[in-house]
Amino acid sequence: MIQYRANGVTVFQSALYQTTSTVVEGESFVLVVDPTWLPEEVETIRSYVAEVQRDRTLYLLFTHSDWDHIIASAAFPDAVRIGSLALVERPDWREALDTIRDFDAKYYLRRSYPIEYPMLEVVIDHDGQRLALGDPDEGAAITFGLAPGHTPCGLLSFVEPHGVLLVGDYLSDVEVPFIYFGSKRYETTLGKVDDMLSQLAVRVLVPGHGQHTTDVAEMRRRVAAAYEYIAAARACVREEEGAAAALAAILRRYPFAAGMKDEHEQNLELFRRELKG
Ligand SMILES: [Zn+2]
Repeated sequence: MIQYRANGVTVFQSALYQTTSTVVEGESFVLVVDPTWLPEEVETIRSYVAEVQRDRTLYLLFTHSDWDHIIASAAFPDAVRIGSLALVERPDWREALDTIRDFDAKYYLRRSYPIEYPMLEVVIDHDGQRLALGDPDEGAAITFGLAPGHTPCGLLSFVEPHGVLLVGDYLSDVEVPFIYFGSKRYETTLGKVDDMLSQLAVRVLVPGHGQHTTDVAEMRRRVAAAYEYIAAARACVREEEGAAAALAAILRRYPFAAGMKDEHEQNLELFRRELKG
């Protein structure tokens, strides 16, 4: 279940959708990001944290409010919870909880914690916002970027001194972009990631689904692949010559393309709506 472990950073991977949960440990803090998904998987993360925490301050960061990322928001009741203003202001937040309850009912799953929408102690509302972690003398901090596009409420979170960039549901190696909110905003967020890769010493990038990477060229390749998919999908809905075949060729690069069919169709619907204005 652990896909990466080095320098105080542990990335857990769920059996479902290769969803990642990250734990970053500093001298005076422990940061847990998107703990998920199956009850035993959450318990594994919880036991791990209980074992290593000692007297360190615990933080819980949500990269965005999709139900798979907030499913265990109540499993760490003593944590300082962090997320975006758009997560707080999500109008249909009850839907996320309904989806979790439906999922657990469908698979007869019991959890040892309640299903709750995250109540935040720290709200991120602007690019470049910084949060010192633990003892200020340690000098550890997260620098945030707002990341709308996939959803309205995404965050890019760069943790120092570890050099970890947590991007939520962007830059997956196994998924095409899932664009629920807007493709222009999605591209703006990709641009922010690109800037972060140029300006910051990013040592490991962790997407919400799929594999982490420590290779900056691979990080840039993923940014380029997302732009390429968006451009190809736009060309396709404009019915440009050869565009459908080009888009199909892009999809064939993804081993789980069949599983992403609905999201891909939804993307095309969104592009059609955007095209009509
Ligand atoms: Zn997700």
